[in-house]
Amino acid sequence: MIPSDSLPVPGAELRLAGIPASPGVVSGQLAVFAHEEVRIHPTPIAEEQIDGEMRRLEAALLKTREQIQKIKEQLAHSLGEQETGIFEAHLLVAGDSTIVAAVRKQLQLRKICVEHVYQHVIHTYAQSLRQVEDPYLRERAADILDVGRRVVHNLLGRKLADVYTLDAPSIILAHDLSPSDTALLNRQMALGFATEAGSTTSHTAIMARSLNIPAVVGLHEVLSRCESGAPVILDGYAGLLIIHPTEQTRYEYGQIEKRRHEIEQRLEALRDTPAVTTDGRRIVLSANVELPEDLPLITESGAEGIGLYRTEFMFLNRVQFPGEDEQTNIYRQVVQASRPHLAIIRTLDLGGDKLPTHQGLDPEVNPFLGWRAIRYCLERPEIFKVQLRAICRSNPGGKIRVMFPMIATREELTAALTLLREAREELKAAGIPAAEEVEAGAMIEVPSAALIADRLAPMVQFFSIGTNDLTQYTMAADRTNERVASLYQPTHPGVLSLIRRVIEAARKNGIWVGVCGEMASDVVMTPVLIGLGVDEMSMGSVAVPRVKRAIQSLSFGECEALAEGILKMDSGEEVRKRLEQMAREKYPELVT
Ligand code: PEP
Ligand code: MG
Repeated sequence: MIPSDSLPVPGAELRLAGIPASPGVVSGQLAVFAHEEVRIHPTPIAEEQIDGEMRRLEAALLKTREQIQKIKEQLAHSLGEQETGIFEAHLLVAGDSTIVAAVRKQLQLRKICVEHVYQHVIHTYAQSLRQVEDPYLRERAADILDVGRRVVHNLLGRKLADVYTLDAPSIILAHDLSPSDTALLNRQMALGFATEAGSTTSHTAIMARSLNIPAVVGLHEVLSRCESGAPVILDGYAGLLIIHPTEQTRYEYGQIEKRRHEIEQRLEALRDTPAVTTDGRRIVLSANVELPEDLPLITESGAEGIGLYRTEFMFLNRVQFPGEDEQTNIYRQVVQASRPHLAIIRTLDLGGDKLPTHQGLDPEVNPFLGWRAIRYCLERPEIFKVQLRAICRSNPGGKIRVMFPMIATREELTAALTLLREAREELKAAGIPAAEEVEAGAMIEVPSAALIADRLAPMVQFFSIGTNDLTQYTMAADRTNERVASLYQPTHPGVLSLIRRVIEAARKNGIWVGVCGEMASDVVMTPVLIGLGVDEMSMGSVAVPRVKRAIQSLSFGECEALAEGILKMDSGEEVRKRLEQMAREKYPELVT
């Protein structure tokens, strides 16, 4: 393989290695999506060129407005008319006469090309907005810079690859994609994506798996070496982006795909079989869902209901948060899609890498350690209550399950449960139909909660272990930072000991315990989770048949013995090797 820092030979095959984030292989053309600013040389112009430069600017602004209008119309379909306000704001910026007047003044003063002057004016505006007190106005700085980038590209006659409005099926390459960007991807056109930043449990990677889009992340500094339109193969299994693949490479990938397809077909046949070990231990396999569009996948995959509905995704890309009725409607669809099983609706987990675009969560130095999830909700009871009421209304007269993310203290759990009780009482007092029975759970994803699980267990009906965050916080390794990806070790004996502790506390208190982090979808981890005693595993629907096949190949007894042995090991690496060996012995077709 060519190391990713060598210089490319034009037209020759180039293999760039990153971290595999979502399985699958796709080939197509590359769409490079660069947020970076273009550097513009300040070319001098003569006095008589000023009018011509202004006409170029007017033409670029017109084109920009047309492009924004097109995005707005396309997104009105997925977001709803009222939520395309972000683009209204962008249209206003692109039509702002004060900016145009400022550019003309600067052109007359400085006599340099309009691209340079326009970029300078935009930056000055954005800078002054960043300093104002009003958070709403501060956020407009990002809009101005966004529009400015688009205008500069149009002035230069360059195409700005747009993740939302790709007009041909493409593989997206970007420095990073936020979960908000990913939620808006046009699935017909986005065949796969590759990013320079990110790691396997960033929410962007999690979404790629849910959307069943192959993805590779952590490709260091490749943007400048790739161009839109280049033919590529993206290998989400091995974590490779292959630019200008040769005929031989294409042929080899064709063969691999054929074999994988055969395995997938065999797995599909398992859909209606139960997830039971050879010695009769039954595990509930349920689905993680981020977007309502994915609800039909649940039944197709054979999942038994929803083990994690990530509600925060409906709060991203919005000018205003969804109201109680809108939320109720969505949660009803969630409950409906889970039947005859139940859905666990997780309350708002905003913050970390899931930042709403327009709701004033100020940037923090350590967002994953900051104002996130239950911390945000408890300080914003007016937002939290609306959600709790909507969840309670999602199954009138029936049963619902709700869980709270990122519980770190007993006080937080008490406060969340109190608000839940109040929400139910309010609905009752107002005569609004609501669920009769509510099962409340705590997510265990902060080490302090795992360590006091015995004190939290009597307060709830279930635990769901969020291993993505539990690993991040136990190892002190940011789950989105590719630089510390090697330290982000779900197999570390420290992480596994915490999981065991949580399961023991649950057992003693007679409550069930699930795992809803990415660990649940990794067939290499299946034996240890079963051996430690989890009752339920929730994962992206696509993974359900594979994990079921793994469970059906294992005995509970051997898994218990394996878990015992593993907990005595010294390192995450040693544990991983042992688990990989077990997986190869038991279900080689799933891991090779
Ligand atoms: C987790 O942390 O494991 C989890 C399931 O929650 P999220 O990935 O949404 O943080
Ligand atoms: Mg989490």
